[in-house]
Amino acid sequence: MPSLEEAQRTILDSVRPLGAETVPVLEAVGRVLAEDLKAPWDFPAFDNSAMDGYAVRAAEAPGSARLRLSDYIPAGAPGARPLAPGTAARILTGAPLPEGADAVVPSEEAEERDGAVTVLQAAQPGAHVRHRGEDLPAGTVAVRAGAVVGGPEVSWLATSGRLAVNVFARPRVAVLSTGDELVPPGEPLRPGKIYDSNGLALAAAVKQAGAEPVLLGVACDDRAALRSLLADGLRADALVTSAGVSAGDRDLVRHVLEELGVRQLFWKVDIKPGHPTAFALREGTPVFSLPGNPVAALLTFEELVRPALLRMMGHRHVFRDAVPAVLAERLARRPGRLALVRVRLERRGAELVARSAGRQDTGILRSLLDADGIALVPSGTGELAAGSLVEVHLLRQPPGGAGT
Ligand code: AMP
Ligand code: MG
Repeated sequence: MPSLEEAQRTILDSVRPLGAETVPVLEAVGRVLAEDLKAPWDFPAFDNSAMDGYAVRAAEAPGSARLRLSDYIPAGAPGARPLAPGTAARILTGAPLPEGADAVVPSEEAEERDGAVTVLQAAQPGAHVRHRGEDLPAGTVAVRAGAVVGGPEVSWLATSGRLAVNVFARPRVAVLSTGDELVPPGEPLRPGKIYDSNGLALAAAVKQAGAEPVLLGVACDDRAALRSLLADGLRADALVTSAGVSAGDRDLVRHVLEELGVRQLFWKVDIKPGHPTAFALREGTPVFSLPGNPVAALLTFEELVRPALLRMMGHRHVFRDAVPAVLAERLARRPGRLALVRVRLERRGAELVARSAGRQDTGILRSLLDADGIALVPSGTGELAAGSLVEVHLLRQPPGGAGT
């Protein structure tokens, strides 16, 4: 039975980024660049003023120089005339510097009267000029493939006039719930039945990871029903099922998947909760069979499925941030498998302090709702004393940081 780390490695070794596609820039946000973004020309494209002021020849503008105004150059002006010798031109921020000028005197450092300007402080060559190519000369790589698209990347794309960009595709992830007890939310509940929460919960987690969920609904614990829905699911880029993977006589998911030609890489992982989790491949399509318990389904999604989906989307960082935290209280647990403990976190100075988010039974959803992270308590560790250090996978930014 693989450890959590071994299972993660097996999964990541089995998946690779999907192809790339060209999408409108706003649809690229949060996705991974599949191309280097180069400067197609010099940026800025022409020398221009960094201030509202006066374009001058620095050599003609020592302190208290008085220069006749020969031009007015607003931003967007097509091509200014060359600056006549011995004169200054009124210029606005972003406007092209006229030929001959080599400095801008900001309005605050000048006095304008009767068509002439008095320079109060000597102008320095190059002052308040944005030089052609100073940001990015033509041909330089501004952003490398592999970067995640956000505001700055979109700013750069728009600066270079682009409306579309090549990014890695988002996998379509089929989600199938299994179990005779399940009723889709929205339909009446009959005695003994429960709503299928895993379908929507796993679809939500898929969506949050940036991939595209495809809800297949519920299959009953019946070979024919499973076969047809699992076959549908195998047409997606990845398939995630929940429940029906333990050793009970109704746990048919693995067997039906095998009949459909998947190659199983592992069944069961050395973790608790989430022990009965299986991973298989069919012609490169990953198939994750998660436990039915809603808490276990989401925790195994976090640790095993999410990293794989991120890798398929071209991300380099596929794991949650792992941080050390100090236990605020004793954590009692039986020695055995690696425990994934739902914890609340709090910043105390430079330290993160962790405490249990509540009852840790797999049936308790509340402690997942309250959790800021998942603490990893190694197998073989019995009770952990208050003050012990544990590794925590961050699910969200813990409260108590700067600004909270
Ligand atoms: P199983 O893995 O089939 O033994 O299911 C384990 C537990 O999870 C049982 O209590 C199931 O009723 C529950 N369960 C399974 N699938 C779902 C689901 N889709 N939504 C909510 N609970 C579920
Ligand atoms: Mg079941």
